[in-house]
Amino acid sequence: MSIGKQVEVIRHRIAQALERSGRKHVPVTLIGVTKYVGPDEARELYRAGLRDFGENRLQVARPKLDAFARWSFNDVTWHFIGHLQTNKVKDVIRHFSVIHSLDRWNLAEEIQKRAAELGIQVPCCIQVNISGESTKGGFAPPEVHTLLQDLSQLPNIRPIGLMTMAPRVEHAEETRGIFRNLRILRDELQAKGFDKLIELSMGMSQDFEIAIEEGATMIRLGQILYEA
Ligand SMILES: *Cc1c(COP(=O)(O)O)cnc(C)c1O
Repeated sequence: MSIGKQVEVIRHRIAQALERSGRKHVPVTLIGVTKYVGPDEARELYRAGLRDFGENRLQVARPKLDAFARWSFNDVTWHFIGHLQTNKVKDVIRHFSVIHSLDRWNLAEEIQKRAAELGIQVPCCIQVNISGESTKGGFAPPEVHTLLQDLSQLPNIRPIGLMTMAPRVEHAEETRGIFRNLRILRDELQAKGFDKLIELSMGMSQDFEIAIEEGATMIRLGQILYEA
């Protein structure tokens, strides 16, 4: 199947999951993760209508960032979704509009410093380690409230939501509780006054439908887009 056709299939599955979630009219941003592919496949996604693209490493993103610039694909939002080293922040915030992986305080300080130099504000999702796996990055759920209070001292960071990674499991259904808990955490924080905390960046190829049913506003899909 062509990438274009596959995107159609995925969009249909997204619409059905939205319907099941009872929020048909709430948009879900489909982020096409291009870390596995080159510029040509990324262009197929663009032609299929995608305008949000995700990468987890600057070096891997480069050829696609360069190609999109050459092709004047200027109406694209690039999302940085991977672990971000502090020494890469300066370059990353020049090329990416949203950072999904704010996972530690010293990263926030570095983003603040570099964003202030550029005179920009960087929308960020706070990465939360809901599953508690020691191999996963992110803040523990009880830490997020204090973090948000501290972030209010960093004017060039705009917290827009929460992000999580579900563990690899045999049956996607096992991830439902993780997505639900991220939504509950967001709702609690909103109720405490952080009403700009809107986004739930959760759901990947293996589990995006469950994530949508549980309230995802942004899904990050890689593999499934390129399946023949
Ligand atoms: C690679 C990656 C994805 C996409 O994963 P797939 O299983 O290929 O859909 C999503 N989020 C992050 C953080 C990733 O690194």
